[in-house]
Amino acid sequence: MVVKNSYLTIAKANTSDDVIEKKDFFSMTWKKIFAEANENKASDIHVQQFENFIRVKLRILGDLCISQEITETEEVRTTLINRLKAICHFELNINDEAQDRSFSLKVTNSRYRGVVTPGIFGENFVFRIIREEELPTIKNCLLPPQIEKDLLYAINRKQGFICITGPTGSGKSTTLQATLMEIARIKKNVITIEDPVERIIPDTVQQQISHKLTWSKAIKAAMRQDPDVILIGEIRDRESASLALEAAQTGHLVLSTLHTNDVSGIVDRLIGLGVDRKLIADNLLFISAQRLVQKICSSCRQPNKLGGYDQGHGCSQCETSKIKGIIGRQPIVEYSLHPDPKSILNFNKQEFKQTQLKTSLYSEALRLSQEGIISTDEANQWEEKDLWETKQNPRQNQEAGQLSIQ
Ligand SMILES: [Zn+2]
Repeated sequence: MVVKNSYLTIAKANTSDDVIEKKDFFSMTWKKIFAEANENKASDIHVQQFENFIRVKLRILGDLCISQEITETEEVRTTLINRLKAICHFELNINDEAQDRSFSLKVTNSRYRGVVTPGIFGENFVFRIIREEELPTIKNCLLPPQIEKDLLYAINRKQGFICITGPTGSGKSTTLQATLMEIARIKKNVITIEDPVERIIPDTVQQQISHKLTWSKAIKAAMRQDPDVILIGEIRDRESASLALEAAQTGHLVLSTLHTNDVSGIVDRLIGLGVDRKLIADNLLFISAQRLVQKICSSCRQPNKLGGYDQGHGCSQCETSKIKGIIGRQPIVEYSLHPDPKSILNFNKQEFKQTQLKTSLYSEALRLSQEGIISTDEANQWEEKDLWETKQNPRQNQEAGQLSIQ
């Protein structure tokens, strides 16, 4: 409750609502766009400027769709862009460098992380939508039972390093926030270090990175605050990587993310950053890579010759979705639990993939396509990526089953 009250105070002091609630064309335009994004459960809003128009796109179920194109006069478009900058608290007089802001809007009950960058026809904007009312839980992450069980086992350990990797928009932050929600936060001191703080997680101490409070300074400060669990939003350099693993070594549970393609990439990156191999080997607890895939509508999906299904053309069951035949998204996860220390001390990427993974992105995509949850086409995208690996990997080939490469 305390957290919620303090959040409301912040929201009240924020003038975004005052700006967006003005009853003129400029504010009404943005109000409609933010509301439309909210109604369609979009994850991001893109505002792009071209020579004679502004284009607004929404990312819905992973795909970008055009919301509208504004072809008013240049003067009107300039005022619209300035009004948007005011809503987002961007500096109005700066238009030749990137700016990054977080703000909230009562009209949608959501928080946003906005970034503006200069372009040849004017500035372009991207807003990530963070829905306050939807605090993630492990259950609504839709993880397969065994992965959920292993993740819950990992987050109930007293110490170790949990790392989730994946590109932007793969849902890795949501999975990490959901794991925090499973921790007994009243009995433990949970400190998060984030840039930016996306969601208010009740009963945790959340710290925002700034030019004064760098990642490594924040981790060192967290270590002096008698922590049990530390969430480090992202590991970017050698110092923060070493500090994170040292924290795990000295009796803390450390959760973090990295930008790599897959699970073996986590080990590869940590070694590449210069972290002591023994420190890595002794502390890796649960490491995973994830992506979001589109779920097809089971009422209009079309069986195909490969024994799977193609996306349907839409029906009464999926008519509320912006994309016909698609009803949502869910993660596919590859992971390793307690990887063998020897596989890290003598790290070989291929060998690690063959011996230490409990699931692979491909095996998971394939399983979902065989169950008719995702289309064969979607599964095949992962098949192509694993092609060269499966040739050298009989175990995965076996898992590939009937849809494997002919
Ligand atoms: Zn349908």
